[in-house]
Amino acid sequence: MSSPIGSRLAGKIAVITGAGSGIGLETSVLFASEGAKVVCADINEAGAAATVKKIEAAFGKGHAVSIRADVGNEEDVKRMIQLAVTTFGKINVLFNNAGIMHPADDNALTTSEDIWDLTMKINVKGVWWGCKYAIEEMRKTGGGSIINTASFVALRGAATPQLAYTASKGAVLAMTRELAVVHAKENIRFNALCPGPLRTPLLMEFLNTEEKKNRRLVHVPMGRFGEAIEQAKAALFLASDDSSYMTGTDFTVDGGLCAAYVTPE
Ligand code: NAD
Repeated sequence: MSSPIGSRLAGKIAVITGAGSGIGLETSVLFASEGAKVVCADINEAGAAATVKKIEAAFGKGHAVSIRADVGNEEDVKRMIQLAVTTFGKINVLFNNAGIMHPADDNALTTSEDIWDLTMKINVKGVWWGCKYAIEEMRKTGGGSIINTASFVALRGAATPQLAYTASKGAVLAMTRELAVVHAKENIRFNALCPGPLRTPLLMEFLNTEEKKNRRLVHVPMGRFGEAIEQAKAALFLASDDSSYMTGTDFTVDGGLCAAYVTPE
């Protein structure tokens, strides 16, 4: 039997990148549960298809489609947005969520140019291209909501460096803010989501010892990693009309990390 469907995104069409894992997976299922039709895009074709299967198992067929798209490739991003229009008729929400944190990304002296360029291509150009093609379509229907995933590292410096990643997420914040201002009168809203450290494959593969995990957790007042679903719920708020007077924000969902000087024992 299908699960009941809420109405916070009733009638809306959403495109989600990085939909095969972590935040993108949870957000795809949550958006579908609130009435959206979802285009699940990921460079990992099997991952995106598995997310669609999960949505179909919960809510029946016709709520989601998958596409293999590398957000570091402009043609792929264009095809991804076009799929929303050809399949469901329009696009109301874009969640530019896909991103990488490369294991060889380190400090200013040790990070190679290749890693720098790859990180910028996926984390920054991918967001730009998503916005570019979504804006064209959203103009035709009188607006929309675009959410770009940045990170708390765009707001706080870390002594455990990943310089290219940090710089890329700073660029996402600045780009989101400017897009919000430029397109405000067109009713296209842009907000950046700044997650804290999460218990998803992206970070857990990187923090592969208890020592590395604890080095981070000491800075989180809540004393735990966040869950992908907690970011999905924030993305739902930013996607829906509940946030209709919000644009240009750096929306932090970080267990209190950015508010802290000393954390509780
Ligand atoms: P994840 O690794 O669980 O999922 C990322 C997904 O993006 C994967 O399915 C992957 O296949 C896909 N992807 C990678 N490169 C891609 C590309 N070029 N094109 C399309 N898809 C691609 O990661 P997550 O934790 O869910 O992270 C999602 C976003 O949140 C990222 O932008 C990440 O930087 C950001 N973020 C994560 C954390 C954290 O602690 N996990 C903290 C702050 C910000």
